[in-house]
Amino acid sequence: MKYGVVGVQGDVEEHREAAEQAAGKLELDVDTLDVTTAGELRECDVVALPGGESTTISRHIEEDGLAEALEEHVEGGGGFLATCAGLIVASHSADDERVVTLDVVDVDVERNAYGSQRESFEAPVEVDGFDDPYPGVFIRAPAIDSVGEAEAFAWLNGDVVGVRGGPDDNVYALSFHPELTADSRIHELVFQDAR
Ligand code: GLN
Repeated sequence: MKYGVVGVQGDVEEHREAAEQAAGKLELDVDTLDVTTAGELRECDVVALPGGESTTISRHIEEDGLAEALEEHVEGGGGFLATCAGLIVASHSADDERVVTLDVVDVDVERNAYGSQRESFEAPVEVDGFDDPYPGVFIRAPAIDSVGEAEAFAWLNGDVVGVRGGPDDNVYALSFHPELTADSRIHELVFQDAR
C-alpha cells in the first residue's frame, strides 16, 4: 500500500513516521512518500493532509494542481486522513476567504477555535471503538461546528473533534494531531479501512 503525505507545508515527516509505526503494528507493507505533484498523488492508496497552516496549504495545493487531484482521489474511494489544518482545507466551509475548501467531508469548521499557539494542550479524546481514550494534541485547532453527511467518531468533552465521511466513508478528518503522539491507533484505523 502507498501512503502519501501532501508535502507542501506542515507535519509531513511526522505523518510518515506515524504511518510507518502503524504499518509495523499491523504487519502491513506500506511505502510512505511526500507528495508534491498530482502524478505522485495518483499513485497513492491513502493520502494524508497534515497539520500546519491552512491558508498556506490551501494556496499551494491550488497552484500545484494537488487540490483537484485530491478531490479525484476521494471521489474514487481512496483513503484520506486530514488533520487540523488538513481538516480545515478538506471541510465544506471554514468561513475564511483565504482557504479554498475541498468540500470532501461535510463539516463546517471554525479556525483557531481552541485558542492560540500558547494555549496548545493535550487531552484525552474518546474514540469510537477504542478501549482507552486517545491522547489528542490540539494546536490552534479548528472546532467542528456542524456535521452534515458524515459520522462523528471522536469527542473532546462531548464536542465532536473527529468525523468519518466522504463518498465512500473514506475520509477521516480530525481537529487534533495523531501525527504528533507516539500512539498510532488513528493511523491503524485508517489503514484497516483502506485494506
Ligand atoms: N490554526 C491553523 C490553521 O488555521 C491550524 C493549526 C494546526 O494545524 N496545528 O491553519
